[in-house]
Amino acid sequence: MIQVNARATFNPEGPFKLTTIERRELQPHDVLIEIKYAGICHSDIHTARGEWGPVKYPLVPGHEIAGIVSQVGAEVTKYAVGDRVGVGCMVDSCGECSSCHKGEEQYCLHGNTGTYGSTDRHGHYTQGGYSTHIVVTESFVVRIPDNIPLDAAAPLLCAGITTYSPLHHWEAGPGKKVAVVGLGGLGHMAVKIAHAMGAEVTVLSQSLKKKEDGLQLGADHYYATSDPETFKQLAGSFDLIINTVSAQINIDAYLSLLALDGTLVNVGAPADPLAVNVFSLIGQRRTFAGSMIGGIRETQEMLDFCAEHNIASEIEVIAASQIDEAWERVLASDVRYRFVIDISTMEQA
Ligand code: NAP
Ligand code: ZN
Repeated sequence: MIQVNARATFNPEGPFKLTTIERRELQPHDVLIEIKYAGICHSDIHTARGEWGPVKYPLVPGHEIAGIVSQVGAEVTKYAVGDRVGVGCMVDSCGECSSCHKGEEQYCLHGNTGTYGSTDRHGHYTQGGYSTHIVVTESFVVRIPDNIPLDAAAPLLCAGITTYSPLHHWEAGPGKKVAVVGLGGLGHMAVKIAHAMGAEVTVLSQSLKKKEDGLQLGADHYYATSDPETFKQLAGSFDLIINTVSAQINIDAYLSLLALDGTLVNVGAPADPLAVNVFSLIGQRRTFAGSMIGGIRETQEMLDFCAEHNIASEIEVIAASQIDEAWERVLASDVRYRFVIDISTMEQA
């Protein structure tokens, strides 16, 4: 086993502490990645706090990983030492079911192997990217294009793909009116990507505090959802709404903003159920849908799309000692727009 440094939480409340974890010895198709940056996703918080179900501690979160290949297994063909690479939310899947055959490994019928908090095919409990190195089979590693800095690329591995995938699937593009609910990590990527796809983009945020930023990110319009007028004014107007909110919201109110045949896609994943009045759907043949990250092929496609359109994440780089503080700020919706851990600070007090 390979011993590496990591920041782990030892119970649901934290705090994070420096610790040592084990990575498996390189198998023939494995690559060893020296992690340079790891993004902080709200899912890290839901998971570590046990909101989505029980987890084992110590837990090392982190599924927005950007780094450099530092060693390759004997049969690796896709990557070489020195390559700039990324790893997202999953590190393996069965490879044999209909979803895997379609390249939708995130929907593997046997369950994909999460980058952390899962048991992998070798029987090891997986630990994530708040760490100096990770070992991943080459088919779950993607290439980070040269023109995207590694720190701003890290959040693309989850926030980027989680918003690109539904925008692509529901055909955001010229002539389509897209609304993004919540301007956090996922939300700000949704705005940039939908804008780059050519859609008319509206941000629906709790307040107008981030309006200037939203417009700069590529939104055409910006409304506060705390103002009841917003819902009157925008009734029936959107083809597609991407809800990135990490908490419960009034889904019926947002469904009322969809046009005929419009779709509201929930990517936000609050632990508690969301109530839906079926009349909100029946009236205008509306759809309430969900979407989970994206497959490996699509993740590479998203990175190449971002490179082509000069898109990356807006980040605040922090030291490893600041993870607890950053989590509190994410919970307070005080993130502009993704915290990224500089892994070179791993051992600093
Ligand atoms: P985030 O950075 O915290 O952004 C969430 C945003 O939602 C906040 O910035 C805030 O935006 C808004 N919000 C928060 N609390 C709210 C409330 N009580 N009422 C209304 N709006 C509220 O989180 P994130 O990392 O983008 O993740 C968002 C959600 O997506 C999480 O639940 C996460 O687990 C989930 N997720 C899902 C997938 C997937 O595959 N489906 C992948 C990654 C993450 P404003 O300040 O603009 O209102
Ligand atoms: Zn995530």
